[in-house]
Amino acid sequence: MSTPKFVETIISLGSNIEKERHLPEAIRLLRRHRKIDVRKVSRFFESDPVGGPEDSPEFFNAAVVACTDLSPLELRAELRHIEDVLGRVRTDDKNAPRTIDLDVVYYGDLVVSFDDWQLPDPAASAEPHVAIPIADVAPTWVDPVSGRTAYDMMLGVDAATEAVRPVMSITLAQPYESRGPDEFEHSGDVYAPKLEAIVRAQLLEIGENPDREGLVRTPLRVAKAMDFLTNGYSTSLSEVVNNAVFDAEDADEMVLIKDIEFYSMCEHHMLPFFGKAAVAYIPQGKIIGLSKVARVVDLFARRLQVQERLTNQVADAIEEILDPLGVGVVIEGQHLCMMMRGVQKQDSSTVTSAMRGNFKSEARTRSEFIDLTRG
Ligand code: ZN
Repeated sequence: MSTPKFVETIISLGSNIEKERHLPEAIRLLRRHRKIDVRKVSRFFESDPVGGPEDSPEFFNAAVVACTDLSPLELRAELRHIEDVLGRVRTDDKNAPRTIDLDVVYYGDLVVSFDDWQLPDPAASAEPHVAIPIADVAPTWVDPVSGRTAYDMMLGVDAATEAVRPVMSITLAQPYESRGPDEFEHSGDVYAPKLEAIVRAQLLEIGENPDREGLVRTPLRVAKAMDFLTNGYSTSLSEVVNNAVFDAEDADEMVLIKDIEFYSMCEHHMLPFFGKAAVAYIPQGKIIGLSKVARVVDLFARRLQVQERLTNQVADAIEEILDPLGVGVVIEGQHLCMMMRGVQKQDSSTVTSAMRGNFKSEARTRSEFIDLTRG
């Protein structure tokens, strides 16, 4: 199942602020992490708040099995980062409402105590909202301290301390009942339950049979593809640029990166448009790694877009990162919504441009740029 250097871990998740949005988003961010390979996700469970302020909202809880080559402390730091991305504000009150809470509960069979943290997390054997999702996702997981399976541990927690129930609407039926560990095994093939249900409904609407062989896994594939094609929404500019801005006091010549391939989706039809971008700037003391410019284009292309806005966003981003004397962006794109629907000639393309600073104010700079993009 995993290469030796990877360790299987179990991560527990909880949210009680906008939980319908934050819990799936946390799972998306985990799946997208380059060093965390999410293997299985439990169903979602709803639990009453315990020990928090009065009238705290209810929680959604879940658990995932993931493989990683991060150390326990590195993994914990990455989870903290995801919590920060999702707007978690830490307070001294461990029961305060939170957008998202991500905890490493098991790290292989490691048993260890850090200053403020233990592995396994004692909550796995004491708290129903932790134990039940873990038993759901990995019933045969063996707790290295007690030697008991997750399923046994779930039966052992004092269920009277909090009510935990599966969330039907989000997990596509599958009534929750106590079953043996063998029957607990589910496919682990659910990626984004809500989105997959929508794609399935869409297949039915167009007269297809979503249960025929070729389509059975289509909702899953579409969800994954959609997630990839729109990952610009959950990536920040600073994450993309990540320390690749360098001082260059004497650089004052135009820097041009052209033939940057991009793939995006039009926001009117959700059909692809794609083509090439050229990005140029005249530095004012700062330059950026060339490959980062292509990543900035991707950051804005991987969303639902119109080509004009994409062009402007790339120009604004370069301006924001480098504060250069000027920026020019030219994008040439072909839109499948036009080509496939026969609205326009198939070989037509759309050209958009955005000019900032001296690319806007000086015709010579602008025409030098345009000439270079053609050359
Ligand atoms: Zn369109």
